[in-house]
Amino acid sequence: MTQAKVCFIGAGNMTRSIVSGLIKHGYPAERVQATNPSQAKLDALHADFGVAVSNDNVKAAEQADVIVLSVKPQLMQQVCEQMQSLDLSNKLVITIAAGIPAARYSEYFNQDITLIRTMPNTPTQLGFGMTGMYANDNISDAHKAICQQLMQSGGKVVWVEREDELNQVIALAGSSPAYFFLFIESMIETGVRMGMDEGKARVLAEQAALGAAQMVIQNQDLSLAQLRNNVTSKGGTTAQAIATFEQGGLRGLVDKAMSNCVAKAEDMA
Ligand code: NAP
Repeated sequence: MTQAKVCFIGAGNMTRSIVSGLIKHGYPAERVQATNPSQAKLDALHADFGVAVSNDNVKAAEQADVIVLSVKPQLMQQVCEQMQSLDLSNKLVITIAAGIPAARYSEYFNQDITLIRTMPNTPTQLGFGMTGMYANDNISDAHKAICQQLMQSGGKVVWVEREDELNQVIALAGSSPAYFFLFIESMIETGVRMGMDEGKARVLAEQAALGAAQMVIQNQDLSLAQLRNNVTSKGGTTAQAIATFEQGGLRGLVDKAMSNCVAKAEDMA
């Protein structure tokens, strides 16, 4: 296992998720450091995972081989500018912030940097995350392997060839947990309207969603249409429901929602 010295700038939810996964997968805690302005989050990270903590971004970054930028996008410029005095030529910078194009980081740091832009989603917190990653042509395979190791600790990863594909990653994985929440929420509401107890409706819908996802994952040789056809008897109850979705234009609505999601991501860049 590569044992680069990693420093997380910002010790919020995403850092906690990634650090938790890293330590669980055997990454040595003494090779990990996190910084944050408020002490409570640092104390919790140190107590839970044994990693080093600090409120000095510049010093922590100076000591690291890999700097993971994990602050909110609106703070990114300020945080990077603070580190302009550092020589970053031998360091890998990984950003998990949404919306900021890779080229802008060199402006923020006022020097050429080796940067990988990643786009994780919220289930990373549970180890079921999906992260899209973009590295420009200058990034070595060794750097890509380090980034992959870090982000895989929270789930699966895919590399995209072009930076604009990260906007499609947002539509497919970054924002999509909320689509599934909406679908499950709608099912529960209907279950309740039909007279089902809410708790029972929730467990029925959530377990069906989990089972369906597992069936997709564990049957890679089958298309989604085949999986659907396998549980849809002609003239039966499932066929009735599926026909209703198709007639109501579900596919077109999904296409429109995801296209609008991508357009919004492009606007925000
Ligand atoms: P978060 O929980 O708010 O964490 C951000 C942390 O940055 C906070 O602990 C904050 O500390 C700290 N911070 C503020 N100013 C700082 C500074 N000057 N130096 C160092 N740390 C500073 O946010 P998050 O959800 O982890 O998100 C982090 C990044 O991940 C964001 O850029 C977001 O776009 C990206 N992201 C998040 C998700 C997600 O599912 N959450 C998904 C994809 C991408 P205080 O709270 O003490 O001020």
